[in-house]
Amino acid sequence: MIKEEGKSMDVVSNIEIDRVKESKLPQVDFNNIQFGKQFSDHMFIADYKGGEWKNFKIVPYAPISLSPACAAIHYGQSVFEGMKAYKNEDGEVFLFRPEENAKRINKSAARLCMPEIPQELFMEAVKELIKIDSDWVPAIDGCSLYIRPYLFASEELLGVRPADEYKFMIFTAPVGGYYEDEIHVKIETEYTRAAEGGVGFAKAAGNYAAALYPAKLGEAQGFRQLIWTDAKEHKYIEESGTMNIMFHIGDKLITPFTDLKTTLAGITRDSVLTLAKELGVVVEERKVSIAEVVEAIKDGTLKDAFGTGTAATLAQISSITYNDERLELPSLDSRTLSNEIGQIIQDLKRGKVEDTHNWIYRV
Ligand SMILES: *Cc1c(COP(=O)(O)O)cnc(C)c1O
Repeated sequence: MIKEEGKSMDVVSNIEIDRVKESKLPQVDFNNIQFGKQFSDHMFIADYKGGEWKNFKIVPYAPISLSPACAAIHYGQSVFEGMKAYKNEDGEVFLFRPEENAKRINKSAARLCMPEIPQELFMEAVKELIKIDSDWVPAIDGCSLYIRPYLFASEELLGVRPADEYKFMIFTAPVGGYYEDEIHVKIETEYTRAAEGGVGFAKAAGNYAAALYPAKLGEAQGFRQLIWTDAKEHKYIEESGTMNIMFHIGDKLITPFTDLKTTLAGITRDSVLTLAKELGVVVEERKVSIAEVVEAIKDGTLKDAFGTGTAATLAQISSITYNDERLELPSLDSRTLSNEIGQIIQDLKRGKVEDTHNWIYRV
């Protein structure tokens, strides 16, 4: 039940459901999933109008109609989340820490003057959609159903002000195992992802748009990702592409802190730090300078560097280029910490180890 201003409403019984006549499922080859090309049968949609959320619907996945003057398109009031549904060996469908996504979309929304999505609405909408399309959750190791909840200003509006009308939508898409070639990254010292006082901590659509051009330049030079640095001096490391970044130096796991709000507080980041602490590793969340990382690579004390995020969970970095100097990192099989933590998370998702943190949420 959603309790808002004294009122309460039952989300589930208020979701109108229109099922597809024919599922697209038989067309999907789960052993050869094409990323972002296939979407599940249904989507969720809700309207914010007149100061309240209404019209909760699960309908066939299909294009929607919007005004050409839709505010999100012009002024960018648009935020999103990324999460995944998994199937364990018993065929049970579950999510990983979904309440954290529910909380985070509201932090993003608040920064962009967008209305709050009641946590219960977010959770019930995700849950009901996944239940209806549960056959779309691959039972194959490493595969999952990617979930994209998003919120955008739908009002027909030309003046610049926070819109009065929004849509909250969710669609899903099966995704295959995340296989990567070696990841070579470059430390970016010209372009900026996020500045203090900006929107770097929000999962705002515009952050991604702004990163495309520098990422394209980096790709042309053969770099898979850019390591973003602080906007003021380009001396401190913040993120790697659209992932958080961690360094295992000596016996410490070091990662940029989120205090300046220029680094997005990843849920994978938090999970990895929690597990590392439990393994007895000293964790430091603070400013991380380029200089100390370069020095640690050169003097051999850097054991590991990896990105963290829902898409890949952990992505080990093979080389870091700084000012045209390419620094090779230790071989991937020597990365004991990230390999161990990656294994623990995988085992948790398969139900092979006890979920002591209550991270697994059964649908
Ligand atoms: C989504 C995102 C991450 C990772 O967050 P998770 O909750 O771990 O998926 C990291 N950095 C940026 C910029 C992101 O948008």
